Amino acid sequence: MRHRPAAVLAAALLVLAGAGAAPAAPAADAPAAGAAGIGDPYFPADGNGGYDVRHYDVHVSTAVADGRLSGRATITATATQDLASFHLDLLLPVSSVRVDGRPAARDRPDRHELRITPAAPIPAGRSFRVSVTYAGRPGSVSWRGERAWVANRHEIVTMGQPQMAAWWFPANDHPRDKATFDVSVRVPRGRQAVSNGRLVERTAGRRWTVFHWRQADPMATYLAFFAAGDFTLERGRTAAGTPYLLAVSERLAPGERRRAMALLRRTPTIQAWLERHLGRYPFRSTGGLVTSLDPGFALENQTRPTYPYLGGAGQDWIVAHELAHQWFGDGVSLESWRDIWLNEGLATWFEVRWDDYGGSASMPEWLTATWESHADDPSFWDLPVDDPGRNRLFDEAVYVRGAMTVQALRNRIGATAFDTLLRRWVGERRFGSGSTADFVALAEEVGGQDLGAFFTAWLSTPERPARTAENGLT
Ligand SMILES: [Zn+2]
Repeated sequence: MRHRPAAVLAAALLVLAGAGAAPAAPAADAPAAGAAGIGDPYFPADGNGGYDVRHYDVHVSTAVADGRLSGRATITATATQDLASFHLDLLLPVSSVRVDGRPAARDRPDRHELRITPAAPIPAGRSFRVSVTYAGRPGSVSWRGERAWVANRHEIVTMGQPQMAAWWFPANDHPRDKATFDVSVRVPRGRQAVSNGRLVERTAGRRWTVFHWRQADPMATYLAFFAAGDFTLERGRTAAGTPYLLAVSERLAPGERRRAMALLRRTPTIQAWLERHLGRYPFRSTGGLVTSLDPGFALENQTRPTYPYLGGAGQDWIVAHELAHQWFGDGVSLESWRDIWLNEGLATWFEVRWDDYGGSASMPEWLTATWESHADDPSFWDLPVDDPGRNRLFDEAVYVRGAMTVQALRNRIGATAFDTLLRRWVGERRFGSGSTADFVALAEEVGGQDLGAFFTAWLSTPERPARTAENGLT
């Protein structure tokens, strides 16, 4: 995620609040209830326990203009314990639930949780399919102060972090449980729908058109997206042969549309530059979409980063940021939301590096200049970026101090070890997840040194790191 600079920042901040009850521990023997949360300390209701999703097959239908969405989702999962019941995260009203084709009982312990009790318990290790039929007005739903749905009468774009799925499909809504996706979106004939991955099929009826998209590589639920409306599309292949799809909203003014497409056309070049640093791009397709709506931030939706209108090719720093997330955040996802600096620090480091070192002569000079420019700014340093709290996940310090940490690490362990660290991180954990502790352990292994004091100074201490060689500052 990247907010646009300055004025829009305040409006774009997600309000994240509230804590749920801690999940009860299941009894040892009898089939037990799957937990209502996956165990993220910041977002105790997010995700669920007792199963692991392999695939989502999501069908949604919307006329766009009326604000309504109806859906049917079939989720293929494997039980990780004997399950008497289990939860899905969904904020829309449900009309029917089936497990392996048989009607299942359901209730709502709260508006975010759909509790499903199958006719018979599901044994640990068993694969099962749950189908949920639902409908509602996502734009009217807020949950714990957040309204993630971005739409008007002409256009819809799903962009939200850390939560988005619950506004449009039932999910095990946490990046720890990644899965492959088929997303079919039915829109009025003449309109279009764009989602992640590749277009499998477009079926036109008399009044409706269905766009069937497939993301065949594992994806975190908040990165699953669709946009519906009127879009100008451009297709091609990167130098490495990855097919791309660029989409620009036709609701933008003609000049804006030209500039937005010029920005998106930077995608193959920037992706090739990132591949030179990080090795192969993680996914089978790429691209981007510029919406006419104003979410106030860009988001790294997998294979199809989604941008508000920001201008033309001169704004390509934002493309560098969101494409870097395809490795950091999408390819390797967070273990918990408190690890957010791993996503944002690394994406911002590549953003600054692409963007002429933020006006400095080199990345080491950018680090020194940024360290000096925040000398009299205790509020910048008071945030422990490895534990920012759920209300400050997207603070500027998470991005900038995070990127400074990355550069300081490069200074400390040297360019060769640093390059090895990044390539091993994205290669060995591709399609999985990792925590700050995992990253620190790999940095120490690759760097051949104890980096405990270094990371404590940069990530955990609520004050400016001292200007020492040990802190990567000279
Ligand atoms: Zn970001």
